[in-house]
Amino acid sequence: MDDEIICIGCGAVLQSDDPKKAGYLPAAALKKAEAGETDNVYCQRCFRLRHYNEIMPVDLNNDDFLALLNSLATKKALVVNVVDLFDFSNSLLASLKRFVGDNEFILVGNKFDLFPLNSRQSRIKDWMRQEANRMGLYPSKIFLISAARQKNLDELIEYLDQASQDRDIYFVGMTNVGKSTLINAIIDKMGDIKDVITTSRFPGTTLDRIEIPLENGHHLIDTPGIMSTNQLATRLNAADLEVVSPKKPIKPATFQLLPGNTIFLGGLGRIDYLKGQSTSFTVYAARGVKLHRTKTANADDFYQKHVGELLTPPTGENYLPALKGQEYHTDYKSDLLFGGVGFVTVPKDCVVKTYTPDKIGLGIRRALI
Ligand code: GDP
Repeated sequence: MDDEIICIGCGAVLQSDDPKKAGYLPAAALKKAEAGETDNVYCQRCFRLRHYNEIMPVDLNNDDFLALLNSLATKKALVVNVVDLFDFSNSLLASLKRFVGDNEFILVGNKFDLFPLNSRQSRIKDWMRQEANRMGLYPSKIFLISAARQKNLDELIEYLDQASQDRDIYFVGMTNVGKSTLINAIIDKMGDIKDVITTSRFPGTTLDRIEIPLENGHHLIDTPGIMSTNQLATRLNAADLEVVSPKKPIKPATFQLLPGNTIFLGGLGRIDYLKGQSTSFTVYAARGVKLHRTKTANADDFYQKHVGELLTPPTGENYLPALKGQEYHTDYKSDLLFGGVGFVTVPKDCVVKTYTPDKIGLGIRRALI
């Protein structure tokens, strides 16, 4: 065949000379296409755009997904749970413990770029390990990375490269943790990815997964993201989600407070200072989340009146469930968690009550900073 072959996605002539130019496809895949072994060929870029927008999230109770997880226990595999460091507890897949079997399990904490620059990696990892252990998960390694900013990826890739010598690698994660971004970054960086990536169906199911063949004969396997109503990300509309998702490291905002004061994190979170000394609370949230201080006595009315306009997001009509709260006593300097929105650092010996819509993402941990 001497004709040029065209990418059916973008119409560029397929070529394997320059990965940076239009129409790039690794040589082996182009050869197959030239030999007529594959039709409907996409260039690497179109393939990614297409598949990473198409792979549909599933519910954790989806039978096909459970079957896929079940199949893990009978294989030699490395299981990689990608989690969002800003919504860690909700993106850790506790149910994995039933499926991992004797396989090795690692945690990849993504969006590390958002943590303030003075954060201590060892503390963050300790906290992740404790939380994972509490849920019966025992990661052999924990990585802190930024998929979007391509930070700390080399160490992870080296690890995956090593592990893939004798087994496949399965990526699992909730939606919005950045799993697609990570896999794209790995494809970009890992030199020996063999061919064009293929989507495949897990045998006997309707579930699509993406298999990325490696030179060594093993695969990286991307499973669908899992949706959960416990993640704020699945409750927010696209515009508000954009506002909540910080793009740059988070800048703390400090408030001097007395008991009887309340801070709102837009319309998404509220913290009441109930008992303690005059002290300061430090809020870590995306810049787009509007912070407001008010008196606790007026806070309900303030919220009713201003949610959607002063207190944003949500923007405009409030489409979220009512705020519900939980009380905490800080035995040591602690971070009060507002999963997916941020956290508030509070000194030792304070009694506070924190709220989110339907209590989504509430929690506490020993202060990281
Ligand atoms: P998936 O649903 O797990 O596949 O997640 P995506 O890869 O689509 O990413 C979800 C959101 O997180 C997008 O808005 C990404 O831009 C963002 N994101 C992904 N990785 C990072 C990261 O390393 N840092 C930051 N700040 N945002 C990220």
